[in-house]
Amino acid sequence: MDVPQFHPMSKIVGIDLGTTNSLVAIVDSGIPYVLADSEGQRLTPSVVYFQENGATPVVGRQANRVRVLKPRETVYSIKRFMGRRGNDVGTEETQVAYSVVAEGAGPVAIEIHGRRWTPEEISAEILKKLKADAEAALGETISRAVITVPAYFNDAQRNATIRAGELAGLKVERIVNEPTAAALAYGLDRLKENSKIAVYDLGGGTFDLSILELSQGTFQVLATNGNTRLGGDDVDRAIAEYLLGEIERAGGPTASLSHRTTDLDQLSLLARVREVSESVKIQLSTEPFVDVSLPFLTSTFSFSIRLTREKLEELARPIIERTRGHCLRSLSDAKLRADELDQVILVGGQTRMPLVRRMVSEWFGCVEFHEQRGDLRLGEEYHQAKGPQLNTGVHPDEAVALGAAIQAEILAGGFRHLLLLDVTPLSLGIETFGGLMNPILPRNTTIPVKAGEMFTTAVDNQRSMLIHVLQGERERAQDNWSLGRFEIEFEPAPKGVPRVGVQFEIDANGILHVLARDIKTGHQKIVTMKSAVDVADEEVQRMVEESVEHAFDDLRFRQWTEAKRTAIETLTATRKTMAEYDADLDADYRQQILDGLLGVEAVLEQENRATKTGDPAALKAATARLDEITQALAAHAMDQVMEAMLRKKGVLPASVGPTA
Ligand code: AMP
Repeated sequence: MDVPQFHPMSKIVGIDLGTTNSLVAIVDSGIPYVLADSEGQRLTPSVVYFQENGATPVVGRQANRVRVLKPRETVYSIKRFMGRRGNDVGTEETQVAYSVVAEGAGPVAIEIHGRRWTPEEISAEILKKLKADAEAALGETISRAVITVPAYFNDAQRNATIRAGELAGLKVERIVNEPTAAALAYGLDRLKENSKIAVYDLGGGTFDLSILELSQGTFQVLATNGNTRLGGDDVDRAIAEYLLGEIERAGGPTASLSHRTTDLDQLSLLARVREVSESVKIQLSTEPFVDVSLPFLTSTFSFSIRLTREKLEELARPIIERTRGHCLRSLSDAKLRADELDQVILVGGQTRMPLVRRMVSEWFGCVEFHEQRGDLRLGEEYHQAKGPQLNTGVHPDEAVALGAAIQAEILAGGFRHLLLLDVTPLSLGIETFGGLMNPILPRNTTIPVKAGEMFTTAVDNQRSMLIHVLQGERERAQDNWSLGRFEIEFEPAPKGVPRVGVQFEIDANGILHVLARDIKTGHQKIVTMKSAVDVADEEVQRMVEESVEHAFDDLRFRQWTEAKRTAIETLTATRKTMAEYDADLDADYRQQILDGLLGVEAVLEQENRATKTGDPAALKAATARLDEITQALAAHAMDQVMEAMLRKKGVLPASVGPTA
């Protein structure tokens, strides 16, 4: 018989399988981070070089290096062909240096050295390298992964991604949308319910603008729009063309990126200029200018030039401007205005360029932008119509991979302790008779949680009950924080008869939902309050300290209020019974009862108007005395009721008058 074996579950890695670069990340002891590859770099170029001798393909930086020299054997941007069929790729898309076979309804293939490779097989080579590098970094076997894909990927493209994972020996536990992963990395799953987020993702070769809405802890993609042929590469190309023009003007060799060539000198010149263009662009994100130097472009010609950020921005502006229309379309598809967004997050390496941040901020009317301008008129405008917040807190080229790792950790059962440790920082309850706080969920209750209690009316013919939701540790309702109030209506009835169930539920996001239901009719109301968990630590501490400081007064108030409630009930019942059986009472007994009543009233009158507190012990004693005095009256009333009942049933003859 098989003995069940228990293995510790293997780690699940998060993989951003990008068009230009790929990354692998994990969560270690609650902290997500990107793993370095075998060369100590975190970004692995998504490039595969197939050697002539059929040896294992070379992936990453090394493959990128031979790309210019071996254009037909080096595959880049394979993601563009994932899950695509011959007749759905345009001729423009097949304009790559390697050979693409796109025929009819058949799947796209890449032909190298006479063998056809499917896009998923090539992606699998990239994944194999990521897997091997992660295993080397972690010192353990990796067999499970979460992989991200663009939000616009269809089923065929997603399935191809899953197959690529399987071919690489990875079980793909989940496919996650890239904008969703980015939002997770930014911790935006902790925003309030229905928050709306725009994810502006400008990478090396693609651009997307996705709009997400947070709903019950998960992100829904409301809209996504973009261009799969627009990105940082276009900026590099614009810089390169500018430099090539300047090289020519300075008497150097003539070349252009738009002219295809097989001449090795030309190819090498173009490769050098392209490489320097990207590196200049990256440096200009932090420097005001860069001195470019390209020695020995020919045996007799060397070139150098100073490039300023201003010049770069002039070259890049028209390219970045092209993303604007996609942003507008995405917003209009989501039926939202920019000022209805809560946050705009930036993803993709190209968004590190300050110009991109400024332009995006301006288009979306982001808060940061208005504040930066410091312009009074705009400032006033901003105060009237607050825009979304531009959030740039996470490395833009790592956000997607980090989010994938977070999703992986959630699937692996990690972070659960974090979720479980989420507790109510303060008690939650409702206001009841006499202005008391009636806690329903005590402080430090683990969430999610649901709990309830039944309440009734304190006066006759009440038609509704006010549900005043409170948060805090104080006995008096007024000393706690009011989270909101609403009324639940019911049919009028004697006091104590209507029953209203009040239930508090806190979901996994810390949002409090309060339900009140009239038990008789089932009529109910549910009101969602703000987050019950999101309270500043200092405020929680202050509330707890105050509750300790005022513990004695607070307790006295509670005891007094409860004693008062009993006293008033006893007074009301005594007066009613006295009036009913007045004729049966002898003068002496009547005086005794009156004295008892006066005794209770006297203590009640001593209530301090300001603190609404009196002496609870004295009140309890006076009420107990009145109770004792009225024992005989109560017994008499009971006898009368019994007698009337028996007469009604014909057991006793009908009486003609009150018996003494
Ligand atoms: P990704 O596809 O997210 O890896 O983004 C790659 C693109 O980001 C490439 O075009 C890079 O040149 C560009 N990039 C990376 N770092 C920077 C930077 N600091 N400033 C400007 N662009 C950058």
